[in-house]
Amino acid sequence: MTLRTRITLLTLGLLFVLQLLIGGSVYGTLQFILYENLRRELAEASQTAQRLIREQGSLEGLPFTVYGQALWVPFPNPTASDILQGAAIPIAKSLALDGATLALSERVLQEVLRLGGVYTEVTLFRRDGVQVPLRLRAERIETEIAGIPQGPQLVILMVGRSTEGIRGTLADFARTYTVTALLVLVFGGFLAFRLVRQALEPLEWVAKKAEQVSTKPERLPELMGHNEVASLVKSLNRMLARLEAAWETQGRFLADASHELRTPITAILGHINYLLRRTQVSEQQRESLEIIKREAERMQKLVGDLLELSKTGGGWKVELGAVHLYTVLSEIQEEYSKSFEGQIEVEAPEDLWVLGDAERLHQVLANLVSNAIKARARRVRLVVRDLAERVVLRVEDDGEGIPKEHLPHLFERFYRVDKARDRERGGSGLGLAIVRSIVEAHGGSVWVESEPGKGSVFSVSLRRAPAPQTQLA
Ligand code: ADP
Repeated sequence: MTLRTRITLLTLGLLFVLQLLIGGSVYGTLQFILYENLRRELAEASQTAQRLIREQGSLEGLPFTVYGQALWVPFPNPTASDILQGAAIPIAKSLALDGATLALSERVLQEVLRLGGVYTEVTLFRRDGVQVPLRLRAERIETEIAGIPQGPQLVILMVGRSTEGIRGTLADFARTYTVTALLVLVFGGFLAFRLVRQALEPLEWVAKKAEQVSTKPERLPELMGHNEVASLVKSLNRMLARLEAAWETQGRFLADASHELRTPITAILGHINYLLRRTQVSEQQRESLEIIKREAERMQKLVGDLLELSKTGGGWKVELGAVHLYTVLSEIQEEYSKSFEGQIEVEAPEDLWVLGDAERLHQVLANLVSNAIKARARRVRLVVRDLAERVVLRVEDDGEGIPKEHLPHLFERFYRVDKARDRERGGSGLGLAIVRSIVEAHGGSVWVESEPGKGSVFSVSLRRAPAPQTQLA
């Protein structure tokens, strides 16, 4: 996951939690206030109901929004089950009840008898089939009842109001808040993504520039100002300068050393050739001289490769131009078909040009094909795939193949799969390192796929070039 995505997600997460907290507390407060108001209204309604029972023995004077009912318990210390089994006599109902009855559960009744009064929620089943959710205040009171002269009586008084309004208000709030919160979240996510991208842009720029410093260390353009990114670029440049110096020293040493070694090797080879051709030598001496010659030639190749590598490593530039790939491939085919007993096939479009240096591309292919031949291939195919912007060139062989564990190191200098065997075959271990540095100097890449016993495929990706304009006579 990228840093940008991570920061955006974190911001979104925080925003979500914050919205949840705000939404939750506003909802809770709103609910508390609405129910508190209802509770006050019910307390007032209860006072009115008590007065009505005292004065009129009925609850018909209650407002139409209040559901009220009174039960007279004509004996002392009743239990909840006494009342539920019909020991209480309904004496008054409000008009709002319209013939329906308010019913309490045994548990609530017990609490009313024990505590004197409770608030509870009940559902009223009206006669027209409609169910009304009610908030109810149920009380046990001792009061005079108009029309019953025996003094204060035990009455269970219930007054309730519909909670539909409150529920509707809360649901409306929840709906509106959820939609708004979602919109804020989407907008916030978008804004966070843009802002984070803007903030990270300079860092991405530094990363991209640093990425381009793969073949040769080059300073990054310094930024104006004194921010963190500018000082990062400065530090990177200081590091690159040190790297560049080390790079140059190494390249110079490699170039000087190989250059110095070339002269004595040429002299040795000249003298051996002289001895072999112009002098009388015994069979044993000839054998020794042949061995010295072979070794000296190998040393000559090694030194040549080192010199080549010092050029590519030390910032040696390729002359980029449009190269007709088919021609280069045909040359290679012709060159190697003479000494190679197997087959070399070319499978490439004839009208394809790549951006490159013909001589260096020839060198790359020569290295890859000679490696395939050294790996005992019988058939080598040079295949070109045209991928619009890029061209991929594949050197496929059916040779010995390379065990998997060697593949990541193959392009390193002096890396050989089987040291003794490869030295015997005349390799320096530098061929693929040269291939890689040439290809990278072309702005391309090279990679390998291989399976022991089946063969290997080396692929080189190059930039495509437009066909050069032909001169019309
Ligand atoms: P060298 O100059 O010795 O050939 P390279 O750098 O070209 O060195 O190759 C490194 C090693 O990779 C070689 O020693 C060889 O064992 C192995 N290798 C390269 N190409 C192939 C191939 N086509 N098939 C099998 N092994 C290969």
